[in-house]
Amino acid sequence: MRYTVIGAGAMGLRYGILLQEHTDAHVDFIDAWAPHIDKIREQGGVYVSRDHENRRLIPINLYTPEEYDGDPDVWIIFMKQMQLEDMLKRCAHLFKDHQVAFSAMNGWGHFEKISQYFSEDRIYGGTALVATVLNGPGDVDFIGKSGAGTMHMCAMTNEVTDIEKAIFADFQKANLNPEISDDFKGMCMAKIVFNSVVNTLCTMYQITMGQFISYPGARDMAMQLINEAYDACERAGIKLINTRAEELESVDYVSRTGNPLHYPSMYQDMSRGRKTEVDYINGYIARIGREHDYVCRTHEFLTHGVHLAELAFQYH
Ligand code: NAD
Repeated sequence: MRYTVIGAGAMGLRYGILLQEHTDAHVDFIDAWAPHIDKIREQGGVYVSRDHENRRLIPINLYTPEEYDGDPDVWIIFMKQMQLEDMLKRCAHLFKDHQVAFSAMNGWGHFEKISQYFSEDRIYGGTALVATVLNGPGDVDFIGKSGAGTMHMCAMTNEVTDIEKAIFADFQKANLNPEISDDFKGMCMAKIVFNSVVNTLCTMYQITMGQFISYPGARDMAMQLINEAYDACERAGIKLINTRAEELESVDYVSRTGNPLHYPSMYQDMSRGRKTEVDYINGYIARIGREHDYVCRTHEFLTHGVHLAELAFQYH
């Protein structure tokens, strides 16, 4: 199988390098961030650590969209939501009818953009409960020991196809711990609600996931956000793959036990002066509510809250 990763950032490197190391797949990477590309070329690969340890240099095949002429079976797409439209435009000349696209980006917005280049039956979504940090150009940390993290995957059509089974088998070998879901929207929304609690509150208050869940009122805050999101989804006819109680336990378990020392990726963006994905997470939940005559007051407030935190961070 041939995979090409669009977006050799934290998660693109994690998926691509694990596939390159643990399967017989051929893996290429496409990226557009010049300091990152220059650094990787200068040092002859990417420095990869596991939980800040065992830092080692791993060579990768890295191209800009304009340099690349490969023809993969599967595109793995891991950009930030705000970057995706431009990147897909730059890669458009490479997309062919026999190829499929897989993306486990956070939030909602990427599938609408990917759908402009791939028909619905060739799009696979995922949700990744895993933490990865791009320390800087050419340097990534896969948080968690080997085998850490879990993910769900599902075809946009909800049907399990042969190519999905082949991707699943490779993801299994790569220790990504995949599980196939049969409900695309319910799967994506469950992760969006998770992120709307953990990513958002940790980012606003500049704390790790463990610090958040150690606050005695954290579960109440989480439940309020979960209830509001589920109420909006019910009005929109969206059934999530987790119950409300399961969603709360997932927030608790991942924050307390899974990645307690981790600052979610939205915090990492804010702390580097980048825009966060909040409009595609809490903002998207609020949009579902508005479209169905229900105002998600807390999610609307928190969408502003994170934008205000982005602004405040620049004054520090
Ligand atoms: P990332 O920011 O590390 O990389 C995405 C792209 O941005 C890459 O092309 C990268 O080269 C580029 N980039 C990185 N830093 C930059 C900078 N300072 N200026 C300009 N460009 C820069 O993103 P990611 O963490 O891999 O996330 C990709 C998607 O996966 C997002 O939707 C994210 O929410 C989701 N996700 C992330 C994690 C995580 O732990 N990192 C976990 C699950 C899901």
